[in-house]
Amino acid sequence: MTAHVSAATLQAYATGAMGADDVLAWPVEAHLETCGDCQDRLAGQVTAPVREMLAHTRLAVLAQARNGPPPVRRRRLRRLSHRWASWSVLPWALVTLLAVTAAFLLDEAFAAGSSVVLLLAPVAPLGGLAVAWSRRSDPAWETVSGTARAGIELLLRRTVVVLVIVLLPLAAVGWRLGTNPALWLLPCLAFTAAALLLGGLIGVSRAAALLAGAWVLAVALPTLIADRQPVLIEPASLPGWAVAAVALAGLALLRADDHRHHTSWN
Ligand SMILES: [Zn+2]
Repeated sequence: MTAHVSAATLQAYATGAMGADDVLAWPVEAHLETCGDCQDRLAGQVTAPVREMLAHTRLAVLAQARNGPPPVRRRRLRRLSHRWASWSVLPWALVTLLAVTAAFLLDEAFAAGSSVVLLLAPVAPLGGLAVAWSRRSDPAWETVSGTARAGIELLLRRTVVVLVIVLLPLAAVGWRLGTNPALWLLPCLAFTAAALLLGGLIGVSRAAALLAGAWVLAVALPTLIADRQPVLIEPASLPGWAVAAVALAGLALLRADDHRHHTSWN
């Protein structure tokens, strides 16, 4: 709805003549969320009993805040952990560690074939992103999404945690295998930025699933079946990955506001 809410509709909404389950109430509420003018008009239409109830509630809340027990301060480590991650990331971290170890063992056993570690690197952080920003795996998502820091800031914090969990084992196995670090780092960062960009539109979990599925079906599986190294994980493709990572990260930051919507949590 781009036009303001009509006076008659607003009055019906304010007096309760329009029920909460009335389909007409939904666009009115959606408009009121973002339109300050209509919020002011609504405030002017509130009936005297409702105004009295709101004033009474305000006084009761203030009295409780003044006289009630002091708020319990959570321990520093606990506060930090909630700012940077959700506990649902832990099982995923274990699975990622096992997957990277398995890929490393396969690469060591079949040194002549295509590198499983390099095929895993681009999609390794996607599972973590899907878990860290998901309605299903974070029971507190509704509360979190309503806080002032929700949106790109919190999503980037959780992304940093996911990347640290993924990049440390990848760095260790890459060093043991003698692989050029850029070969696993750049695809990893490019896919992470792509998931953040696409996630603003269709939800981070969906974007992660879509990108991981596309990489596995289009690149990883055909490579393993044909047993040849695709050009995408060869040193020749590094400039392309670097450009993609920078461009996608820039676009993801430009579209940062997409993550203020609930669709980002799909
Ligand atoms: Zn309006």
